[in-house]
Amino acid sequence: MNPHVVAIFGGAVSGAEASHQLSQRGIRSVVFEQNALPYGKIEDGLPKWHAKLRDKEEANIDSKMADPHVTFVPLAKLGQNLDFHDVVKNWGFSSVFLATGAWRDRPLGIEGIDEYVGKGLYYQNPFMHWYNHFHEPSYTGQQLQLADGALVIGGGLASIDICKALMMETVQAALAQRGISTNMFELERGVGKVLESHGLTLAELGLRGCTLVYRRRVKDMPLFPGETDTPEKLAKAEAVREKVLLNAQAKFLFQVLPCHVPVGKIVENGRLAGLVLRETVVEGGKVTEVAGSDREYGAPLVVSSIGSVSEPLPGVPMRGYSLEVEGGECCRLKGFDNVFAVGNAVTGRGNIKESVEHGKSVSTSIAVGYLENPDGVVSRAFREKEDTVSANVAALAERISHMKPPTAEQQALIYERVRALQEAVGYTGDYQAWADAKRPVRLEQLLGVEGHG
Ligand SMILES: Cc1cc2nc3c(=O)[nH]c(=O)nc-3n(C[C@H](O)[C@H](O)[C@H](O)COP(=O)(O)OP(=O)(O)OC[C@H]3O[C@@H](n4cnc5c(N)ncnc54)[C@H](O)[C@@H]3O)c2cc1C
Repeated sequence: MNPHVVAIFGGAVSGAEASHQLSQRGIRSVVFEQNALPYGKIEDGLPKWHAKLRDKEEANIDSKMADPHVTFVPLAKLGQNLDFHDVVKNWGFSSVFLATGAWRDRPLGIEGIDEYVGKGLYYQNPFMHWYNHFHEPSYTGQQLQLADGALVIGGGLASIDICKALMMETVQAALAQRGISTNMFELERGVGKVLESHGLTLAELGLRGCTLVYRRRVKDMPLFPGETDTPEKLAKAEAVREKVLLNAQAKFLFQVLPCHVPVGKIVENGRLAGLVLRETVVEGGKVTEVAGSDREYGAPLVVSSIGSVSEPLPGVPMRGYSLEVEGGECCRLKGFDNVFAVGNAVTGRGNIKESVEHGKSVSTSIAVGYLENPDGVVSRAFREKEDTVSANVAALAERISHMKPPTAEQQALIYERVRALQEAVGYTGDYQAWADAKRPVRLEQLLGVEGHG
């Protein structure tokens, strides 16, 4: 038997792919996951209307976790149930991989605004977690209160998802008040279409819709970069971005306010009641704020969707918002010989720009395809993440073979400790049975409909 054993923290797209690459080389891994299920952004970031895509991606992870080379440890959080230095120094693992993703929202950057989280302000990650799970009868997490007329700060795909969710929820509630019943799956085909079928408009429902505030121009939105290395390709990419956004607006009826940045807050009665926005000018790729252009925009709700960064992990070196890796070396954590960061944990963000920086390009044809097939684009993002991790681990596997494996005694101790952690949370070692038991009730099951894309 191969004597090497690798610890992997985080079991989602990146952690599962890392374990799979090791399994294929006969190397055992122990995957420590903070949640009951190792689905990461697929479960809590991908909006729940992508039901079929979610199920497919989660099944993909399940098959990797069920491999006999992999030992899964649920509800084991690095920094809470396990100490980083203890695991690295004392457990004897050949190597440690950090695949913990990017779960902390980039701060909005307005002084004192975070005091109003839950009081007129939400950040994207908790918003999506709530949105994906609030329908579950056993949901006990924070309950969010949505309102019409929200300001959404962002510009990427995730911020468009927030706008969609806000529009669908506020319209569904307003229709319900008129005794009209609809659901997310119907509304996801187009809020405008549903309203039209009832002979209604947004204004007739007394709604104004939410507004997406973006610091650059619509044609700069990081929706689909395409290739932009010639003026012709740039013009084509810009046209695609405009088309994508117009299409989303036509379907979901939200507004867009480009070339504005939030610079101040409006507070009324202890709640955030809106933002002060400043105009910008974009020239030669540079954003310049326009002095004297500040204006107050009252809003009952602000949702900030300006990107996700790595959560600080106690004992793990950070540089800014990312785990600190050695320059010029494949994601080795600074100051450690055998600790490596993979996936979103490396750069602290999971977006298209990152995929492109990793040498993969999202082609314009895929971008156009988004208009008809958003799942295809998201699915491709997951494949690209897997490809990057797979290449990283392929490069690391050779190195691991030269690292010091745990002794027979250390191996016995590793698996003894692992069993204790598993037993403490009632995990018997049957991965598939656990996953089936812990998978939450899906909205489509409750509604008795077939979940589409
Ligand atoms: C709608 C949508 C579109 C996307 N589009 C793109 C795109 O175009 N390009 C792109 O590159 N990416 C995109 N992404 C990002 C996508 O989420 C990532 O590519 C991929 O899911 C990242 O996987 P990951 O395993 O690195 O991180 P995650 O999915 O975040 O997984 C991290 C795992 O680690 C666990 N974990 C975290 N902290 C700890 C801890 N302390 N101890 C133990 N476990 C821990 C988490 O619970 C989670 O299971 C998109 C995501 C969504 C939702």
